[in-house]
Amino acid sequence: MSIAFATINSDALKHNLNKVRQIASNSSVLAVIKANAYGHGMQTVSNALMTSDAFAVARLEEAIQLRQYHDNKQIVLLQGFLNERELHQLIQFEIQPVIHSQAQIDLLQKTALPLCFPIWLKIDTGMNRLGISSEEFPHVWKTLNNISGIKGNIYLMSHFANADNPEDPSTQNQISTFNQLSRNISIEKTIANSAGILSFENSHMDWVRPGIMLYGVSPYESQVGADIGLRPVMNLYSRIIAIKKLNAGESVGYGSIWQAEKESVLAVVGIGYGDGYPRHIDADTPVIIDGKQYPIVGRVSMDMLCVNLGYKSDCQIGDTVLLWGDDLPVEHIAKDAGTIAYELLCQVSTRVKFNEICDGKS
Ligand SMILES: *Cc1c(COP(=O)(O)O)cnc(C)c1O
Repeated sequence: MSIAFATINSDALKHNLNKVRQIASNSSVLAVIKANAYGHGMQTVSNALMTSDAFAVARLEEAIQLRQYHDNKQIVLLQGFLNERELHQLIQFEIQPVIHSQAQIDLLQKTALPLCFPIWLKIDTGMNRLGISSEEFPHVWKTLNNISGIKGNIYLMSHFANADNPEDPSTQNQISTFNQLSRNISIEKTIANSAGILSFENSHMDWVRPGIMLYGVSPYESQVGADIGLRPVMNLYSRIIAIKKLNAGESVGYGSIWQAEKESVLAVVGIGYGDGYPRHIDADTPVIIDGKQYPIVGRVSMDMLCVNLGYKSDCQIGDTVLLWGDDLPVEHIAKDAGTIAYELLCQVSTRVKFNEICDGKS
């Protein structure tokens, strides 16, 4: 038995995908499942999201692994390729690259193709990370169309820098730059991530690219997934491995950073930063045991953390402890840890045992 475990609710995944379909009803869905599906497990998640129109991952290894699970699915590689060997590999596995730099275009020109499936050309409209500039676009567009080995469609992609802040004017600027440069060509386009899908209807275009919202998590600082009709997919659990009494004035854990003000019962829970639970959290970050919230006290260590059960408690060794998930949004724990839910979810380590569940509520 694994002490720390997580459940992945495939019906919640399906519910969240349906939500994307409702909101962006005229767009195809490129489901983003990079970084092991945001820490949820790429195989389970891709199976649950089979009705999406395509999958996107960041790295070639992720794409090749995903190809083993799905023979016929469109797979988009967000970072494209770095050299000729990688280009050959993605041709072999029919993985659709995102082309974001002149160096990649040079490789396409000098490598023996054909490439018989779509490729995605990424334009930098203001993120200033990956992508060719709008000034370079006309030239690049011509070059790509003159490479006879490129047989499939070319789609256009761009990425938002600030869509999680609906007030930020740079998002509409990015949308107009993107529309402007493709105004005279007939081409499929995509720019919207989760925040774009939720806040900017004119960003939906031909394809949307939801990531975090598929996992039931809000891209906004001030809201959790449930506030916007999403259902959390991951519940992270462990169990109580010891229970002990502390007298007033006694402390617990490394650094003795917390002391009992009065006689208290403590639960030692088998999860720590070695499992991906954050070490740096605010005092009194909650867990849930048997439907009730209790505060974490003392330092989170590698394999354990301690919870204050109060003066008296019926909790027992072996009881299940919820660290985040239903009724305890990971967005709140992330805030207590000074980070975002994306990071906490990706950080869950391989020591945690994952179980798929279906609750019939998709
Ligand atoms: C990660 C990623 C997404 C998904 O972003 P979310 O904020 O998780 O919805 C979309 N597009 C690209 C290019 C990405 O890298």
